[in-house]
Amino acid sequence: MNDLMQAERAVLDGAASLPEYICAASESAVGAFAALETEYWKSVRDAHKNGKKLVAYSGPVPNELLFAADCVPLNLDMLPAVIATGKTLTAELLRDVETHVSQNLCGCNKLILGALRHGSIEIDALVRAPISCQSVSSALNLLQGELTVPVYTFHTPTKRSERNIEYMVNEVRELADFLGELTGAKPQLETLRRLMNSNNRAKLLLDDCAKLRAGEPCPMSSHMTELGRLYAALGATGALETPLEAEIEYCRCRAEKGDSPCKNGEKHRAYVLQSPLWCLGELTRWLEEKYDIVTVCDGLGYEYGGLYESAESMEECFAELSKSLFTTPALHGGAQNGMSVLERAVITVERYKPDVLFFLGDRWCRQSWGLSKMLSDTLQERCGRAPFFTDVDGIDPAYKDLDQIKAQLSEYIEAVVLGK
Ligand code: SF4
Repeated sequence: MNDLMQAERAVLDGAASLPEYICAASESAVGAFAALETEYWKSVRDAHKNGKKLVAYSGPVPNELLFAADCVPLNLDMLPAVIATGKTLTAELLRDVETHVSQNLCGCNKLILGALRHGSIEIDALVRAPISCQSVSSALNLLQGELTVPVYTFHTPTKRSERNIEYMVNEVRELADFLGELTGAKPQLETLRRLMNSNNRAKLLLDDCAKLRAGEPCPMSSHMTELGRLYAALGATGALETPLEAEIEYCRCRAEKGDSPCKNGEKHRAYVLQSPLWCLGELTRWLEEKYDIVTVCDGLGYEYGGLYESAESMEECFAELSKSLFTTPALHGGAQNGMSVLERAVITVERYKPDVLFFLGDRWCRQSWGLSKMLSDTLQERCGRAPFFTDVDGIDPAYKDLDQIKAQLSEYIEAVVLGK
């Protein structure tokens, strides 16, 4: 039994907490962003030990306010990917939710709910901002029913307009007061401005990564979904800047030499449209090694919201932060307005020029599947190619394991892409 399996066993036996397992899992992960993620999870695990409030949040909450109020913000979307590394633990948490709460949620939400029901992540407050997904709102309503901590809920209108942005400024101000009462430390202008500037810098670096990946040959496989998750949680802290700069530097050197992550050079370019998927990293590596196919873009395309503009006064900061309430988190891209997802998919195909398209839809994500026919028709009509569709479970390998997913992709690649 390796260390991670022992850590998982300890949680299942009640000898360790979920945050302890999460820290062990992120510590054992590899990749440029693993150390950063470990630091984040340690701050969550040790929040109370360090005298801080742990504030969970869901949806496009402007987390700059949470950091500025000296809380440790727990982005609930960060939980599923790291917990899913423990197969038995994941199965146990899912079983608890399916038996005692609801079966009608997507896997991500079931796992988030299961993690908080486990009782070893002790949050001090919950802040929620809506996204257009029934699964998220049901999960949060169920969670809220079980919580005894204070909850702040944004009531963001569906449509983004100048008037609605202005309307939401009041609620941003209310959140600042709510956090001030919770922690005794109201967000201050200087801190808020610094956090918003860091968020802008991370966004610009992500833009540079996306541009580099559109080059031919593509210097590095995409992991937009993964970066979207980290950006939503940590963009404001400045912690993403060094690893992103290193990634850009690496991509630039490779691009100058015309190198590709595929050992025989890039033969094909894939666009992998999907919800979060537990084995995406392994799949992209396998595509490179076995077929010399580089993944140029993943998720539902590249778009992580806009830049903050003016932050001279507290009121200006609130007005800018209110804009972010209208941006759907990258991980739940399917919950966006259908027309903009279709448009983004077309732009992605035009910009990155993939010749292989996979749609690996989460079996529970009604948003993605609702879009699938329109997506297929639009891409066929406007770009002359349609995706290969298959269903997966975003977090649970018990539904389809890596070998089963590979077998399905192989059949398609060999028959259609390679024409064997
Ligand atoms: S958009 Fe899909 S993956 Fe995201 S919460 Fe909703 S159902 Fe789940």
